[in-house]
Amino acid sequence: MASQQQLSAVKGAKVLMVGAGGIGCELLKTLALSGFQDIHIIDMDTIEVSNLNRQFLFRRSHVGLSKAKVARDAVLRFRPNINITPYHANVKDPDFNVDFFKKFNVVLNGLDNLDARRHVNRLCLAADVPLVESGTTGFLGQVTVHLKGKTECYECQPKPAPKTYPVCTITSTPSKFVHCIVWAKDLLFAKLFGDTTQDNDLNVRSSDAAGSSENSKDVFERRKDEDIEDYGRRIFDHVFGYNIEMALSNEDTWKNRNRPRPIYSKDALPEKSIKQNGSVEKNGSTDDPSSVSAMASLGMRSPQDVWSLMENSKVFLEALKLFFTTREKEIGSLSFDKDDQLAVEFVTAAANIRASSFGIPLHSLFEAKGIAGNIVHAVATTNAVIAGLIVIEAIKVLQNDTKNYRMTYCLEYPTKNMLLMPVEPFEPNKSCYVCSETPLSLEINTYQSKLRDFVEKIVKAKLGMHSPIIMHGSALLYEVGDDLEEDMVANYAANLEKVYASFSFI
Ligand SMILES: [Zn+2]
Repeated sequence: MASQQQLSAVKGAKVLMVGAGGIGCELLKTLALSGFQDIHIIDMDTIEVSNLNRQFLFRRSHVGLSKAKVARDAVLRFRPNINITPYHANVKDPDFNVDFFKKFNVVLNGLDNLDARRHVNRLCLAADVPLVESGTTGFLGQVTVHLKGKTECYECQPKPAPKTYPVCTITSTPSKFVHCIVWAKDLLFAKLFGDTTQDNDLNVRSSDAAGSSENSKDVFERRKDEDIEDYGRRIFDHVFGYNIEMALSNEDTWKNRNRPRPIYSKDALPEKSIKQNGSVEKNGSTDDPSSVSAMASLGMRSPQDVWSLMENSKVFLEALKLFFTTREKEIGSLSFDKDDQLAVEFVTAAANIRASSFGIPLHSLFEAKGIAGNIVHAVATTNAVIAGLIVIEAIKVLQNDTKNYRMTYCLEYPTKNMLLMPVEPFEPNKSCYVCSETPLSLEINTYQSKLRDFVEKIVKAKLGMHSPIIMHGSALLYEVGDDLEEDMVANYAANLEKVYASFSFI
């Protein structure tokens, strides 16, 4: 039961929501139904068809429209007397500065990326506004409360970097399907359809081969007048046959591992079956490149089926053929996109053939797509639970009920009979470079590092600082801003190219 005090805290509150997606739709609805009357909402995205299964404020007719604006309209239909102010914009826009944040009693995050979360965390610290932060991954979720000086900030604990794999696991000794996906996507797909001049581990081996002039050329290049079918089979034999033979020749590698099996196209696929396939003509006439599909032209329907080695080999050759016959102009500039059907088909087939070689269980296109796109399928219920918890914490924040703040984790399976695990918030980390005064020490080689390396790779990329000012003593080396004089801009640009040791300081 809501107390009188709760109600007035809620009614008078000015709330900023960042994100109107999976969590955001639930959150806006729950805020409105909980009595909040002044809600501002920022989201830069427009509605996509794939959002509709869980972002329930949106309908098919809204596809292409602003999430923030449509969410507002949808909620006003059942709560017509409250104020919702939408911003179809990036929260990192300079308009949303410290003064803007200061207007709010609490900020609620429903974001999907680290960069924006860090940005909002810093603005909340600068404006001294409490932040309720959240996130979900499938069945898992969490809500945390951040109050300057009282609890840890969003960045007090380092966040785990996105999962990466040792290079040799990917290039030589895969043991899980995800390793085969990374290989198919980052090495093979990139080599064939991306920047074809790049050197990567796929063709290092081919140049090891006793050097006829044929071999010294890039194997991945399609020869003049080479039949597309022959080209596809040559690539197949090189990456799944020859490269595996080469790897096997290094006995030490396989002492404690299962030896992979080289697979050649003539074994996986009888010559005729694909040569007789007239699919190219059928697909070549289509105008929309996104509708080109190897599965469609091979008459394969279900993305949930796990294909046999032969089916994977067919899809591999067919997809490669379709890239060259229908999307030739894009070759050389393509990068893997999980929403590109043909790319997903190619990567699924290539990963499965490699998995087959290494005795790793094969996967369906649906599963492979999820792994390739780092997709954990969103669960609407988790979003709803998390949104409810955000509102509960927001109400505590508005009532200044500091001792009852909780970080709550939503678990996949009940632990000690609890699906929701509340934890008291931690104290601020005294050495956090974001919320404490503690300086951060960095060591750089002043004879090798240019100011540009420092600014771009460390200050901006690693530390997430968007508008840094770099000084040495009282000398200003670099700053960012719209209102800088031209000669200052030129001066800073010149500084970026200098190594540290070359700055002469008085
Ligand atoms: Zn901190």
